[in-house]
Amino acid sequence: MPRRARARHAIDLHMHSTWSDGTLTPQQLVAAAAKRGVRTIALTDHDTTDGVADARLAGEDVGVSVITGIEISAWLPDPAPRGREVHILGWFVDPTHPELAATTRRQATARLRRAEAICARLTDLGVPLDPAPIIDAAHGNVGRPHIARALVAAGHVPTVSLAFDRYIGNSGPAYVALERIHAHDAIALVHAAGGVAAIAHPGVDGLTDAIPDLAAAGLDAVEVDHPAHNRATRDRLRGLAARHDLVPTGGSDFHRPEGPIGLGHHGVSDRVLATLLDRRPAAPAP
Ligand code: AMP
Ligand code: FE
Ligand code: FE
Ligand code: ZN
Repeated sequence: MPRRARARHAIDLHMHSTWSDGTLTPQQLVAAAAKRGVRTIALTDHDTTDGVADARLAGEDVGVSVITGIEISAWLPDPAPRGREVHILGWFVDPTHPELAATTRRQATARLRRAEAICARLTDLGVPLDPAPIIDAAHGNVGRPHIARALVAAGHVPTVSLAFDRYIGNSGPAYVALERIHAHDAIALVHAAGGVAAIAHPGVDGLTDAIPDLAAAGLDAVEVDHPAHNRATRDRLRGLAARHDLVPTGGSDFHRPEGPIGLGHHGVSDRVLATLLDRRPAAPAP
């Protein structure tokens, strides 16, 4: 494995654990952060906050502060009929907020059904895959990366990336959309739970044009610095953020230590974190 440069930022606002599609447990993530000099992390698992308590406990031992985060699978209706997938990051949310908890429970069930549906399609395509062991092995929310890794393990494809390209990517023959909530509702839900909402990696999903609409719906921040954004995309997003009074943020979107991106890459400054804290809703809903 190549040696990686020391993290450039001490604050990383976007990462995944085994509670969704990351490969490190919350405790391992915290240990990795401490080792790299990352002092503040937001755990932003897909559609769940369940890993945060463990991360926070582990963080107390090694001096890593953990922000409660989530990455909500949401959508925008245009272009019809399928609409577009939008990932809404929420930071500082109260994980016990009833509506947030109910939504994550619903999304967890939807993810199970969708994993079964994807496996059924794969089997129809002559690539048989049993969803039961995949679901059993997934610690928390099951996602397409779990299925991709199972396709590799079964010898159907050589790499996770090819599993997406050939089968389960957004235009793949075994793609099944996940039931999602409207992006405006995701923003409102984050606010109701006392949090601050950002759009994740808008450059990856071709969503820069949706930013004015999301800003009007109450969006607080835009993930400008992300491993998949090139310089032109970042410049464009920074301009949009300034125009729409959105906080420009960043994060590593870390999923696994074997990947090219380390914890702390594309993180943010103390000043950005302070600005985000200031954007918290004045009075969290009762
Ligand atoms: P899901 O939330 O189950 O729809 O899965 C989406 C996740 O799959 C993303 O958060 C990424 O971690 C991963 N992903 C999406 N596209 C690709 C790709 N082309 N190659 C590898 N991982 C991908
Ligand atoms: Fe992911
Ligand atoms: Fe995402
Ligand atoms: Zn992510």
